[in-house]
Amino acid sequence: MRLAPIALGLLMAALLAARTGTGVHAGAASSAQATRFLGDSTPPGAAWLKGNTHTHTTNSDGDTPPADVARWYKAHGYRWLVLSDHNVFTDPATLAQLVDSTFALIPGEEVTTSFKKAAVHVNALDITRVIAAPKDSTLLGTVQKTVDAIRAERAVPHVNHPNFLWSIDTTTLLKLERDRLLEIFNGHPTVHNAGGGDWPGMEEAWDVLLTRGKRMYGIAVDDAHHFQGEFAVNRANPGRGWVVVHAPSVSPRAVASALDAGQFYASTGPVLDDIRVESRTLSLRIVPQGDFKYTTTFIGTGGRVLKTDRTLTPSYTLSGTETYVRVKVVDSGNRPAWVQPQFTTRFVEQRPR
Ligand SMILES: [Zn+2]
Ligand SMILES: [Zn+2]
Repeated sequence: MRLAPIALGLLMAALLAARTGTGVHAGAASSAQATRFLGDSTPPGAAWLKGNTHTHTTNSDGDTPPADVARWYKAHGYRWLVLSDHNVFTDPATLAQLVDSTFALIPGEEVTTSFKKAAVHVNALDITRVIAAPKDSTLLGTVQKTVDAIRAERAVPHVNHPNFLWSIDTTTLLKLERDRLLEIFNGHPTVHNAGGGDWPGMEEAWDVLLTRGKRMYGIAVDDAHHFQGEFAVNRANPGRGWVVVHAPSVSPRAVASALDAGQFYASTGPVLDDIRVESRTLSLRIVPQGDFKYTTTFIGTGGRVLKTDRTLTPSYTLSGTETYVRVKVVDSGNRPAWVQPQFTTRFVEQRPR
């Protein structure tokens, strides 16, 4: 993911014209004013690295010891893992024998608190010690204090399963500050990713936040608790949702920073090996798995579908009114992947309300 040189050129031309006040060719002026993607700043040498930010062990309410949980992920091709026990720091240093050039453990915790009947669970990525779970007299205050306690440790927060116990509504998410990551998909069977009745699903909530000018990135996680016995839809088994970061290494800082900056895609099935952001065009490349087929939708302001593309190299060119464009790829097994929103020059980042 990178900003094409042509976009930089146009930007420089616009700045130069504005500064000098000199007459500029009409064509160049209209090009310079056209809506463009802002691009991003993925570090050079980045690779696509699959991992999971949310899994439990016997250190909290999981059914399997940390070493065996880590071995499951390592054996299944994950390059990194966060063991995120409830209010417990499962220190990767105690599992150093499992870490090698193919697999890293990122220190983490699921900071777990509540407000009345609402569950407030926020993961902390790249921590050095346990972070105490705060309390507050409001729901927003409880979530905000938790996010802030994590940021105060220079760690990266992600707000977990807002629809679990119908805990955190979209208005609260909109008012929250200093958070960038939201669980769009959580593999636990009772977290209500899709919403229902009068309550929006996580993707719908995500589009509300983006449309209102909140820069948010959507992650997919396992929230696995059950590695023993039967693997079934009503159990919290591993391997259901993951993220693939575009980062120069699997060091804790590199992974956490890439996530916080939206340099990743989230998936429950599809595999991508390129996401390209040019001046006015967003394109990706799908790596087909077996004989699966794929349908890609480009989604913009208000959650509106801008384009459907059925090829393995979907692309979208801006019409000029978009504030952001995100991409959803669904395979023929109905398993989605989500490319992070790419913001345009029309995106106005809002202060929380
Ligand atoms: Zn939780
Ligand atoms: Zn959890």
